[in-house]
Amino acid sequence: MVGAGLAGLASAWSLHRAGHEVVVLEARDRVGGRTWSATLPNGVVVERGGEWIDADQHTIRRTCAELGLPLAPHGVRFHRRRVNGAVPTVDDLERTLTAVAAHIPAEDTTVAAAFAAALGEEYDGDPAYLRIATSTAGDPRSASARFHVARAEGARVDAAVRVVGGNQRIASALAASLGDRVRLGTPVTGVAIDGARVLLTTDRESLAVDRVVVAVPLSLLDELAWEPGFPEVWQEGLEGVATGTAVKLSVPTTDRTRPAGVQHPALAWWAWNSLDPAGDAGVPAVSCFAGGDAARERLAVADGPDAWLAALAALRPDLELVVGDALLTDWTSDPWTRGGYSYVLAGRSASAAEALQRPVGPLVLAGEHTAGLHSGTMEGALLSGLRAARAISR
Ligand SMILES: Cc1cc2nc3c(=O)[nH]c(=O)nc-3n(C[C@H](O)[C@H](O)[C@H](O)COP(=O)(O)OP(=O)(O)OC[C@H]3O[C@@H](n4cnc5c(N)ncnc54)[C@H](O)[C@@H]3O)c2cc1C
Repeated sequence: MVGAGLAGLASAWSLHRAGHEVVVLEARDRVGGRTWSATLPNGVVVERGGEWIDADQHTIRRTCAELGLPLAPHGVRFHRRRVNGAVPTVDDLERTLTAVAAHIPAEDTTVAAAFAAALGEEYDGDPAYLRIATSTAGDPRSASARFHVARAEGARVDAAVRVVGGNQRIASALAASLGDRVRLGTPVTGVAIDGARVLLTTDRESLAVDRVVVAVPLSLLDELAWEPGFPEVWQEGLEGVATGTAVKLSVPTTDRTRPAGVQHPALAWWAWNSLDPAGDAGVPAVSCFAGGDAARERLAVADGPDAWLAALAALRPDLELVVGDALLTDWTSDPWTRGGYSYVLAGRSASAAEALQRPVGPLVLAGEHTAGLHSGTMEGALLSGLRAARAISR
């Protein structure tokens, strides 16, 4: 296994339980990859990456149950955020999504074009548009409407949860069951087919294995030296998929208020204070997510949290922020991620998504970007790892 994110770990966990010998090589000094939890100075656990577990994400919920990890509701409507002081009703959302869906031709179009066709010039202030543009975390002027608007179907069951104590506990529990089969601080530099085996190169050694699951982020696939070259079928599979931009900011607050999710009325970012698993008030902290290059630039993330903190204070005047304890996470500058998560470009064919799931000799690809309809999520990462394990066990 190359990569100890949820995809690589789920794959190793499943193969290990089926009696296979496994080893997981991970570049960082921790497991979890983009599922990374942290504790703020006031004790609130926040997510620096993957946070929301949606109502229809059954694999991650079942995995948590198997690992004995309790889930708690966010108490915040992910799909119906407050915009300009108003919360859209389920009927509002349904009407908008139905109208937009009617403007997506069979050959597909972009998210921005479909909303513009359905709603007219003012489309970019619509709550459903803002929500989808934010979560897509890519460019709505190139993202697939067919893919990203269909995904908003989940809006009908707005009941997201998270792991009590942090989502990274999923990765830690999977890794604990693997013991010293997980090797941290071991970046893989090359993947070479050598007869019937595969040679994995690291700074320290070369390791010959029967099969390999490569579960590194999409943006790092071409950093590996592939021998005899990156498989052609996977190259075709990468057509029409891109890596987006995802940034997070978490800030302690001096008090607790009712949980709420508030979307910025013009830019692709939002802020929420979730329900405290231990009570019926919100946690004394607020978290923000910004998706796409435009939002990251407007919030001047590369210069630190100050501009975003000022914008947050204006968006959430109901919260008193402890700005000195703010925690900013910019995945674009993270050397082992280099971006947010994958998104689908308009016109991508279904066969491209399937191509990434095809084993090539002893090589199998995993990771959220290979998860088809579930790509871009923790659910997708787990599903991809389990699918890779099945391909190897066959
Ligand atoms: C800001 C942000 C917010 C998100 N919010 C949500 C959300 O609310 N809900 C949701 O479901 N999903 C969310 N996601 C997406 C979710 O976090 C990811 O889809 C998922 O964690 C990806 O898992 P993975 O195993 O595919 O990749 P990763 O977690 O990236 O794991 C890949 C691993 O490979 C390692 N690696 C890289 N290169 C090498 C190498 N050469 N050698 C060895 N190891 C290497 C990396 O260090 C990493 O540990 C979010 C992501 C981000 C960034």
